[in-house]
Amino acid sequence: MNGVEMQKVLVADDDAVNREVLGELLKPEYTVLLAKNGAQTLERAARHQPDLILLDVMMPDMDGYEVLRRLRADPQLEHIAVIFISGLDRPEDEASGLKMGAADYIVKPFNQTVVMARVALHLQVVRQRRMLERLANIDGLTELANRRRFDEVYALEWQRARRGRRALSLALLDIDAFKQYNDRYGHPAGDRALRSVARAAAGAMRRPSDLAARYGGEELVLLLPETGALEAGQVLSQLVDAVAALAIAHEASGVAPVLTASVGGATLEPGSQESLAALFEAADAQLYRAKQTGRNRVSWRDADLDQPDAIPYSAAP
Ligand code: GH3
Ligand code: MG
Ligand code: MG
Repeated sequence: MNGVEMQKVLVADDDAVNREVLGELLKPEYTVLLAKNGAQTLERAARHQPDLILLDVMMPDMDGYEVLRRLRADPQLEHIAVIFISGLDRPEDEASGLKMGAADYIVKPFNQTVVMARVALHLQVVRQRRMLERLANIDGLTELANRRRFDEVYALEWQRARRGRRALSLALLDIDAFKQYNDRYGHPAGDRALRSVARAAAGAMRRPSDLAARYGGEELVLLLPETGALEAGQVLSQLVDAVAALAIAHEASGVAPVLTASVGGATLEPGSQESLAALFEAADAQLYRAKQTGRNRVSWRDADLDQPDAIPYSAAP
């Protein structure tokens, strides 16, 4: 660990002495939570999202096997690593615990050093898995969410918006005359410019649920759940202004003396039956329109955004 935040371990045991011993053992290294029965284990797991549960197999209300089954059946909890601690020491018990998806199986009476070593090992696996998940979802150049992550979140948010009859705004951003930028300043400079635009996009997002992702090439995609057209249009207008305000010189642009971007957007109105693909295509059509009508601007379906006219393409130096 980098010492910023301790990993969380939930100790679930109906025996107060066992809870105490394990809790004291783990406390110096981890944030320890305690539960005295199955129901409490599930409740604390949901509330605190521990990284690991040390789970007693034999508990009166609900045994450890049942707790594990319920954890695995809940999308919010299924990923939590579980180590069984059990008085059942037959190989069949251990095997069936592992087969159910426990990371490990420790037999009571346990040796404290061994418990600590196994907990440390499994928490390391948890950290590594998190890092891999992060890497798999992040674009290496811009460090924004990648296309794969976007597709996943978009599908979820679209479903949520449809089900909850809430608005969902989607925008595509494409850098203007980026080919000329590369031609003029070189590909490495293009990469740096793209990174700056990506940072501006991430900075323009206001809510934790807003997502800025790299869709591909020099195109970004912005997803704003529960945000209506006017508000989303405003956020994106500010982003377009923020990109120009980066003041990245672009002498070959034809749009402006600096690097600019165009945005097309569309909003799924509450109660609309529009498909996820149709919403995306609508945003794409608006991007085309923003390009056609002068670039360095936002075009939004069914919304008249009050924005000053960009410098016409042909009138630029
Ligand atoms: P428009 O204003 O119509 O968008 O013109 P454009 O030149 O930006 O559009 P076009 O699609 O013709 O060119 C996009 C360029 O973006 C081509 C490609 O070399 C460049 N590009 C795409 N991805 C990257 C990247 O990761 N790094 C760099 N440096 N350039 C990239
Ligand atoms: Mg493009
Ligand atoms: Mg472009």
